[in-house]
Amino acid sequence: MNLHEYQSKQLFSRYGIPVPVGEVASTPDEAAAAARKIGGTKWVVKAQVHAGGRGKAGGVKLVDSPEEAAKAARKMLGERLTTHQTGPEGLPINQVFVESGSKIDRELYVSLVLNRETGQVSFIASAAGGMDIEEVAAHTPEKIIRVGIHPATGLQPFQCRVLAYGLGLAGDQVREFQAIAEALYKLYLECDASLLEVNPLIVSEGKLVALDAKINIEDNALFRQKEIGDWRDASQEDPMERAAAEHELNYVSLDGDIACMVNGAGLAMATMDLIKLHGGAPANFLDVGGGATRERVTEAFNLILSNTRVRAILVNIFGGIVRCDMIAEGIISAVKDVGVKIPVVVRIEGTNAEQGRKLLAESGLAITAASDLTDAAKKVVAAAAKRGR
Ligand code: ADP
Ligand code: MG
Repeated sequence: MNLHEYQSKQLFSRYGIPVPVGEVASTPDEAAAAARKIGGTKWVVKAQVHAGGRGKAGGVKLVDSPEEAAKAARKMLGERLTTHQTGPEGLPINQVFVESGSKIDRELYVSLVLNRETGQVSFIASAAGGMDIEEVAAHTPEKIIRVGIHPATGLQPFQCRVLAYGLGLAGDQVREFQAIAEALYKLYLECDASLLEVNPLIVSEGKLVALDAKINIEDNALFRQKEIGDWRDASQEDPMERAAAEHELNYVSLDGDIACMVNGAGLAMATMDLIKLHGGAPANFLDVGGGATRERVTEAFNLILSNTRVRAILVNIFGGIVRCDMIAEGIISAVKDVGVKIPVVVRIEGTNAEQGRKLLAESGLAITAASDLTDAAKKVVAAAAKRGR
């Protein structure tokens, strides 16, 4: 689950990490009032969407009066912001964050992320922070410093110094950095984050300040992160992926027109590859899981069909623990209940496959049986093509 910048900064404040004073606003009037309340002479109005790259996309505006803050908010609110991280449709801007404008001397980059290879949290830092960090990573990776944090010892003071000197900090700033780094690591652990990024962490009049904040929370830990869980902003999420999560289906929206329903993530990937190989384009990744029940199959069909781009469906089930006859029953009842009007190609193999095929053949429904994976992919691509693009 992703957090908005203003939510992440709220957590930063709780952990004593310095952030500019800011207020969230959902109307232009609120934005002006926020600027007046914050005081000063410079403010920044920032679109709150679950994506970075806002600065380059017009989602971060520097203003010098409350009236201008309202104007900037009016331009953003209700619009969608498209950045290099959002995809072409962009994300809706329902709130802006009005923040005191900081004087920036240096822009640094720091982040914490789980390194699955080492089983440790990595602390990543770069003196070349700011909006071009992706370029830095791609062209000058030597400018990025990494430190692995051993789970038993936690972040060590010497590691903080390695990072601080690597960032070109000196004197009091090294101690300041250590306090911030330790607080970030504590926050990362206690809030069950899977990613925490501060880009930029600025040096402003000699002091370190977190100017941007991005936190992702591990979904599997949300049961013990009730408060944070309530901060979820469904408007920033793909509605179909959201519905899938509610039914414990692993679903990812894609932009093709052939829906697939598969058990097992590996088989689902292979199925998508085969569809592509035979000239089609998958509309989704969908893994119904090893313990697929009849109800789940029905939910999966509902989900697939709510995507209006879909022109054909490929069901590919390998019966191991799940029995193919039960899956066939699920498919039949789903096709009947949901009223599927597009071609359905089914390939089932494994436990009770014979009984399953028999049920499908006798159902009287327009379901095309396929003998193997290649046959299934060819048939579904042909069926989708026949319905036109
Ligand atoms: P994003 O990463 O989505 O582009 P940031 O919050 O990093 O958004 O903002 C982009 C840039 O805007 C920053 O690198 C910084 O230069 C500037 N900026 C952001 N917040 C402030 C602020 N409070 N005061 C001054 N400049 C800011
Ligand atoms: Mg940023």
